[in-house]
Amino acid sequence: MKRREFIINSALTLGGTALLAGCGKHEVILSENQVAKRKFKSLDVPLLGFGCMRLPMKGDEVDMNELEKMVEYAMQHGANYFDTAYMYVDGKSEIAMGKVLKNYNRKDIIIADKSPAMYMKSKDDVKRIFEEQLKKCQTDYFDFYMVHNINKNTIDNYRNFEMYKQLDDFRRQGLVKYVGFSFHGTPDMLREVAPEHPWDFAQLQINYLDWDVVKAHEQYDIVQAQKIPVTVMEPLRGGGLVNLSDKAMAKLKEHYPDTTPAAFGLRWAASRANVVTVLSGMSNLQQMKDNIETFIHYKDMTEEEIKVADEVAKIIQSQGEINCTACRYCMEVCPRGINIPAAFALYNQYKVTGNKMLFSIYYDTLADAEKPDKCIKCGLCNKNCPQSLEIPTLLAKIEDTYKQIKGGK
Ligand code: SF4
Ligand code: SF4
Repeated sequence: MKRREFIINSALTLGGTALLAGCGKHEVILSENQVAKRKFKSLDVPLLGFGCMRLPMKGDEVDMNELEKMVEYAMQHGANYFDTAYMYVDGKSEIAMGKVLKNYNRKDIIIADKSPAMYMKSKDDVKRIFEEQLKKCQTDYFDFYMVHNINKNTIDNYRNFEMYKQLDDFRRQGLVKYVGFSFHGTPDMLREVAPEHPWDFAQLQINYLDWDVVKAHEQYDIVQAQKIPVTVMEPLRGGGLVNLSDKAMAKLKEHYPDTTPAAFGLRWAASRANVVTVLSGMSNLQQMKDNIETFIHYKDMTEEEIKVADEVAKIIQSQGEINCTACRYCMEVCPRGINIPAAFALYNQYKVTGNKMLFSIYYDTLADAEKPDKCIKCGLCNKNCPQSLEIPTLLAKIEDTYKQIKGGK
């Protein structure tokens, strides 16, 4: 493989969407007809990773024919990072990926898998499930292995069952190369978890809509402070940043007529300093081809592009069922510190996608003190809202929605 260029210099912000100078350089390796890569320890990791949670399906089964073509195309273009998990595709993802990936030289592929903290009932389950996962994936080791989905419901399992220690033991035995965690908890929880161990990486939900609106940058800043490299999940917010409204699309095309929403969103996430790879949950060969094209010609985003992303995010936010522009004036007067625009943003996203799981995951990432149920209905916020929103009523509706989803209604 012929290396033709190194791009060095990216000084993207640690918070907000403005640029900051000197917050860290990261290197992109470009090679002829191959996706861009970044150095991570001893590996050259493709900036585009294949998130194996939305595999191509034929009825209830994985469409193995389409999956084989996708993997073949990915491998031809250096996109050799495959991120699966125990429960993806109702437990079928690991098995399907194992069947396809066994056809390739193990040294040529990077497999990431996750220890399902939510399914652990005892300390012994960590090893039992790990061995099951190796068998399903038809491999002797995982390159990246993480405690899956640390949040308020799983943090006790993660700690009580000494999951980090066990994963580290796997590493010492050569069964895992790098140990990390994926996270869906609050920033306060992340402040505890990030420094607890010498993690090799952290998997976070980062995209240009959530960055300010639900303060995703806070989580990113926390792991940056610990110097933990990041793998990105949901860079397109579960597809929400692919199917833009006419107004949001017009804004994007006004500035960048040749880009697509997917390419724009993926590049935004990949441009963050210390991002190792951006996972896209691709479901067909065409999506794979489009994304690979983006990363063959990859360039970090410019300051101007980041500003446009900010504008597009504001349009998306203002066009949801709740017409909130994320101006945050309401928060200046709220005596309880409710994160009003974040609650409205995740509700709007839910109304667009209908994705209950994503809604409840995002809801759980709000700090407890900032959740809609802490509203005391004083009405002070209403007076500050330029959109004349009846905020306490809307917060109550969001709280109800969350409870109904949690209750399985
Ligand atoms: S009504 Fe609720 S959200 Fe509004 S200012 Fe009072 S406590 Fe805050
Ligand atoms: S003041 Fe109104 S528009 Fe601004 S963030 Fe609060 S709810 Fe949204």
